[in-house]
Amino acid sequence: MGIATINPTTGETIKTFDALTAIEIEHKLALAQQTFEAYRNTTLKRRSQWLTAAAVILELEKAAFGKIMTLEMGKPLKAAIGEVEKCATVCRFYADHAAAFLADVSVPTDASKSFVSYQPIGAVLAVMPWNFPFWQVFRFAAPALMAGNVGLLKHASNVPQSALAIESILQRAGFPEGAFQTLLIGSDQVAAVVTDDRVKAATLTGSESAGASLAATAGKQIKKVVLELGGSDPFIVLPSADLETAIATAVTARMINNGQSCIAAKRFIVADAIYDEFEKRLLEKYQTLKVGDPMLTDTDIGPLATPGILQDLEQQVQTAIQQGAQVLIGGKPLDGTGNFYPPTILTQVPIDSSTAQEELFGPVAMLFRVANIDDAIRLANSTPFGLGASAWTTDQAEQDRLAHELEAGSVFINSMVKSDPRLPFGGIKRSGFGRELGVQGIHEFVNIKTVWVQ
Ligand code: NAP
Repeated sequence: MGIATINPTTGETIKTFDALTAIEIEHKLALAQQTFEAYRNTTLKRRSQWLTAAAVILELEKAAFGKIMTLEMGKPLKAAIGEVEKCATVCRFYADHAAAFLADVSVPTDASKSFVSYQPIGAVLAVMPWNFPFWQVFRFAAPALMAGNVGLLKHASNVPQSALAIESILQRAGFPEGAFQTLLIGSDQVAAVVTDDRVKAATLTGSESAGASLAATAGKQIKKVVLELGGSDPFIVLPSADLETAIATAVTARMINNGQSCIAAKRFIVADAIYDEFEKRLLEKYQTLKVGDPMLTDTDIGPLATPGILQDLEQQVQTAIQQGAQVLIGGKPLDGTGNFYPPTILTQVPIDSSTAQEELFGPVAMLFRVANIDDAIRLANSTPFGLGASAWTTDQAEQDRLAHELEAGSVFINSMVKSDPRLPFGGIKRSGFGRELGVQGIHEFVNIKTVWVQ
């Protein structure tokens, strides 16, 4: 597939783009390098003003930016507008706090003076996915630009208009031309960019295979990478939980972004004592969800982003059925145009089957019945992933165990997993490494320099 906007609701090709040629990429890399030499010396105050201006543009034009996302990848418009608002919050967060995060840290030693300073490293390449076309980029760009780096964006090939809009927002906000550039390139052109000496590091959010490929190329060049990859997040419900809130949140946590979120709850692990009640009430809620045109305000679930995602999900559900899973609702694509897949619940997925190990990237929930908290934790930890985990219990001792024993980059008790600019975000195991957001996120792409004065 080339670089194009294809409306997932209708299948219509709206606009196609030519990939940059090698000479065009060369110009952009030269501009990035030249810009960095001056940009690294701009004051934090100046960068903060530009980033705040970007937040203002996002807030003022959120409806227009939301429409671009919905057109390109099908998320409900109200969620797309919410995503733009969240991008403004991450801009404001780093505009307000980066100076403190990047201030020298004095460390008493036997030197007369010793301290740690945080210095920019240069151009950083961001390879980004289509599922949160604005948020994934701004959560990289805001800290990177505040740290004095310049950004290069290789966005997913199905969201080129989102990619160009983001470049334009940052330029209109006042950042120098070259501080943040979109490269309209295919994934086959990424290795050459990563290998270029002017590119100092890379971050990738996406699939395991893309992450492994980028990391291998960067590794050969001794360049740092941050990887935010897939997940099959557990959502554990134990007998003391507030069931009403847990079930309402379970629906949101699975259906967010038409089910295409790395931190969506994908495996619902429920204690035997409350399992039947949970299943019955979850099904009732699924029956009320409205699938349809994502531009309409009363739509809960829009189409999947591409025909390929739809085919993959359909294949996974068919495999699950062959392995013994039961379908409570949904289970096959909807007829008609567009990449529509209905809300689906699978029960009795064998815990040793391949399906139980995989990420289902769409509105398909797997329900598992467990005897107790020990079995719940064991099952939750049994996949190769370790991104987020949500667990529901009012018992303090159980909360402590879950926070301690769940193998994940984040554990949310009595809440769904979500990203927050103030807190680090990332995974362990095959969900990746490194962190975005929080103070930790801005320290990923800086030279943490030790200075010793005798
Ligand atoms: P994908 O195919 O890996 O695409 C993501 C990005 O990587 C796109 O820009 C893509 O470009 C590029 N790419 C693909 N193959 C590449 C390669 N071999 N070398 C360099 N770049 C390559 O991911 P996806 O399937 O669209 O996205 C869904 C996955 O992302 C899911 O697993 C999801 O869980 C994960 N995700 C993780 C997070 C997180 O924060 N952990 C957040 C969102 C999504 P093209 O579009 O041109 O192929």
